[in-house]
Amino acid sequence: FFSAALVALTACGQDLENNNEASGENGEEGLTIGLAVADLTLERWQNDRDIFVETAEEHGAEVLVQSADGDEAEQSSQVENMLTQGIDVLVIIPHNSDSISAVAQQAVDEGIPVIAYDRLINNAEIDAYISFDNIRVGEMQAEYLVDQVPEGNYYLIGGAPTDNNAYMFREGQMNILDPLVESGDIEIVGDQWADDWSASEALTIMENALTANNNEIDAVVASNDNTAGGAIQALEAENMAGDVAISGQDADLAGTQRVVQGTQSMTVYKPIHLIASEAAELAVSLGNGEDVDFDDTIENEVGEIPSIFLDPVSVDGDNMVDTVIADGFQDFEDVYSGV
Ligand code: BGC
Repeated sequence: FFSAALVALTACGQDLENNNEASGENGEEGLTIGLAVADLTLERWQNDRDIFVETAEEHGAEVLVQSADGDEAEQSSQVENMLTQGIDVLVIIPHNSDSISAVAQQAVDEGIPVIAYDRLINNAEIDAYISFDNIRVGEMQAEYLVDQVPEGNYYLIGGAPTDNNAYMFREGQMNILDPLVESGDIEIVGDQWADDWSASEALTIMENALTANNNEIDAVVASNDNTAGGAIQALEAENMAGDVAISGQDADLAGTQRVVQGTQSMTVYKPIHLIASEAAELAVSLGNGEDVDFDDTIENEVGEIPSIFLDPVSVDGDNMVDTVIADGFQDFEDVYSGV
């Protein structure tokens, strides 16, 4: 555990001795934020971490970053450890929206404000939730596919069953698909969820799906780019990549490259600079005991959680340059390198 903690501290580029030097433009002396990241091995979360830390530091706060690298028990013990280190506010990207609840509630009980970042924490009286409109993300994925493939066989690949977002994406997808299933225009020929959003699991799921359906699959509702990447490998092995419509999410580098190369139909871009910087500012405000106005709420198992929901953007080859690249989220040269 301690070596993991050290790696995490090194990764955030600072050491504990800087603790007392933090002094913000707004006079927020020495605020320490704990940021518990579910899994820094995925590209998406490295961006979140970097922008969060940078913004918090601009406000004079220090951030202790820990990554559980996909291990839910590890994440709970990392949070417990942060609590003993005397953090002022806790921001959690939960690996498991249920199992993290106990330590999140412990923090709340100790009077430390807790923010759920991107993924909801299901069973704790947390202070805030900041995310994108995740139901809308799922709707965008399915809308794109039904536009391309108004009739045919659909296969669904859900995300990690431990991630509350995976259910919200699915809810959005079904908002669009259900009426077409009822009218008989499309048929859902299978539905599997990929543990840990794993690409290799999505690859196996897709291989089996193709076999079971004699390759008669016209569209794949993949819930993010990582799983889309695995599924597309299986399609490539059957020379079907580019012929089967497939969605994604995150605008990660490999995903955007596949979109412009034509093997992935679309991705959903969620401007990470917005969520990461707003979350850092929110953490600073709550850590300083300031009142914050929230426009939204979401229900978790213990009540209404004050929330902020940001807008996702549907991206394909036509608007890649105007969105993901214009924002500096990916570089033109990197995205178009293989075209
Ligand atoms: C996030 C997605 C991400 C997935 C896997 C979800 O909770 O909202 O953006 O692709 O986790 O890390």
